[in-house]
Amino acid sequence: MKILVINCGSSSLKYQFIDMTNETVLAKGLCERIGMDKSFARQTRGDEEPVTVETELKDHGVALQAVLNLLRDPKTGVIGDVSEISAVGHRVVHGAEKFSQSSVIDDEILKGIKDCIEIAPLHNPPNIIGIEACMRLMPGTPNGAVFDTAFHQTMPAHAYLYALPYEYYEKYGVRKYGFHGTSHRYVSERAAALLGKPIEQLKLVTCHLGNGSSICAVDGGKSVETSMGYTPLDGLMMGTRCGSIDPAVVTWLMEKEDLDTKAVNDIMNKKSGIFGVSGVSSDFRDITAAAEGGNERARLGLAMFAYQVRKYIGQYAAAMGGIHAIVFTAGVGENVTPLRVSILKDLAFLGVAIDEEKNKIRGCEIDISADGAKVRTLVIPTNEELAIARDTYALTR
Ligand code: AMP
Repeated sequence: MKILVINCGSSSLKYQFIDMTNETVLAKGLCERIGMDKSFARQTRGDEEPVTVETELKDHGVALQAVLNLLRDPKTGVIGDVSEISAVGHRVVHGAEKFSQSSVIDDEILKGIKDCIEIAPLHNPPNIIGIEACMRLMPGTPNGAVFDTAFHQTMPAHAYLYALPYEYYEKYGVRKYGFHGTSHRYVSERAAALLGKPIEQLKLVTCHLGNGSSICAVDGGKSVETSMGYTPLDGLMMGTRCGSIDPAVVTWLMEKEDLDTKAVNDIMNKKSGIFGVSGVSSDFRDITAAAEGGNERARLGLAMFAYQVRKYIGQYAAAMGGIHAIVFTAGVGENVTPLRVSILKDLAFLGVAIDEEKNKIRGCEIDISADGAKVRTLVIPTNEELAIARDTYALTR
């Protein structure tokens, strides 16, 4: 069985085509600048050099058609006919309280995803466009929806409610939902395998640190707390997002700088975070280089980030009444090795200790704990596409 995994953004479409018999990625690629000039589709087959096609991609339907053409290209493709695509797995950002697990998409499920647009006006519409394009171009091929929020639906009410008037939860569903659930679920399952223990017996703190960052407390395989909230703006400071701040600052700034809601949202989402503090970049490679070159604000940004991650680990250890392992994943979590040292500094009291040599190894699953450390520290590359493919496979085989 071969599964096409699709992740549609507002102007992009990323995909992987995975053979589930051995979980091999046969091809992967992306369409960029959909609906704009200079749009293109690019595909990489196995370990070969990527093939790029510059073509007008006026909407996601045209982009998907370009993907199907690349997949069945006689010279550089991997299939002879689209009927070889057994099912399509879609990343869907928001499933609100409607979806606590992945689902095969039928009319009712599609309506449910559309109902979530009110809560996720930026994220769900492109996901829906991708689903509808697949239904149109591959009628009869099943589609699965895998939600970023679903894993966190196990959070108890005392963790997900905000201390606002309860009516806003009842009327509008204003509460913490959490995101990156597919990644937190994937790495927590891998952590259990790496530790050789049943997941039901483990208390884990999973740190997904990338352009967007979130932390999750996973108790017995279930998310019991996470740092992102009603939207992916909450929690940790990120590349360009401010994370948690005093909410009163928002209204104060709006008055002081005469900002409307769009302008203040732009500042919090696109001009803040490590970019806003450092004034250098949102990319941790640039920030690390600037800090090494003596840029004080880049150093400050990194110190703030490490401090915030450390505080979350402490909070979540307290929330679960203990901790067996800390997991680092995503672009920053997997690669920025000195940052892991600063995050874990001062956590010795919990039983955390890392081996500095093991900490330098990258690109694989590894236990970087020092011998005898009571709390294990693991680095596990995330693989959301594989998790989506596995769910879709389980739902549709
Ligand atoms: P993600 O959102 O998971 O793709 O992560 C993107 C972030 O990871 C960016 O800030 C990158 O700077 C950072 N990143 C990715 N690869 C590396 C690397 N090899 N070294 C340092 N930072 C990296």
